[in-house]
Amino acid sequence: ILIPFLGLVLAFWFYSARENFKPEMLKGKRVIVTGASTGIGEQMAYHLARMGSHILITARTEAKLQKVVERCLELGAASARYVSGTMEDMAFAEHVVKEAEASLGGLDMLILNHVGTSYFGYFDGDVGHVRKLLEINFLSYVAMTVSALPMLKESEGSIVVVSSMAGKVGFPFTVPYSATKFALDGFFSSLRQEFSIQSVNVSITLCILGFIDTERAVRAAGALLAAEPAPRAECALEILKGAALRRRELYYRYGSTRLPLLLRDWAAELLDYLVRSRYRLDGAGGG
Ligand code: NDP
Repeated sequence: ILIPFLGLVLAFWFYSARENFKPEMLKGKRVIVTGASTGIGEQMAYHLARMGSHILITARTEAKLQKVVERCLELGAASARYVSGTMEDMAFAEHVVKEAEASLGGLDMLILNHVGTSYFGYFDGDVGHVRKLLEINFLSYVAMTVSALPMLKESEGSIVVVSSMAGKVGFPFTVPYSATKFALDGFFSSLRQEFSIQSVNVSITLCILGFIDTERAVRAAGALLAAEPAPRAECALEILKGAALRRRELYYRYGSTRLPLLLRDWAAELLDYLVRSRYRLDGAGGG
């Protein structure tokens, strides 16, 4: 009886001693948000704008980026600008970071959020697609991190990596996508260990998201997934809170992400079964 009781007391003490989020934490911070022309990235840009950050956003579609920048300025961003291009090109990934250096004079937070287009269906054996997706969803994250590290060390800043439940557990119908998200966990969790050993004061927050109501996700998975998507604006805010508080990992929403993962090491087959049971399998196909 005593041990669980002590555990509860310790857990309560740990959570109550944790710092709370305040929007001022991000005021005046220089932030890059990738994949910010739509979806969760766009919503993060708007929250950052309301909090008074300097924002540099990127994606491929210039017309959408222009509109997001205009809205950010209306919402109160300290400054807002964009660079358009594709993250298939590592030189472009590095160019975005150089642009932050030139225009903002440094960087406090690098939010890696973009994701390349993939299919939602049985793995089709296309190795070229896996390679391309690894370049967009993984290698460009690495390239941007490497370029941004001197500035982030200087500011004792933060790296935010937007990942997924599909990057922690095997999900059907997203084989190439899952592979890229697992790779992010391996790279950034190892890097975090090295930062700790070398006393590099740059936080790395890995964000584990469930199903979110962005157009892309609802279009791709809405018919197959027997679950309600969570709101993207709330998700974006939770990511920023976790980042500002320099959390190791952020789980959104906790009940559908962190709790199921507790099963992973002890009852993996049960978790696999529970994951499969969330799909309406009669509709599963290719493409
Ligand atoms: P969206 O599809 O809404 O946004 C993706 C962004 O990436 C867009 O701004 C898109 O802009 C950009 N992008 C796509 N391809 C490229 C490219 N080749 N080069 C540069 N930018 C590109 O995605 P979400 O908002 O749904 O997802 C955001 C993050 O959240 C992703 O990392 C995703 O894996 C993660 N996530 C989302 C979930 C969900 O249910 N929505 C669930 C779990 C994780 P453009 O087309 O203009 O280039």
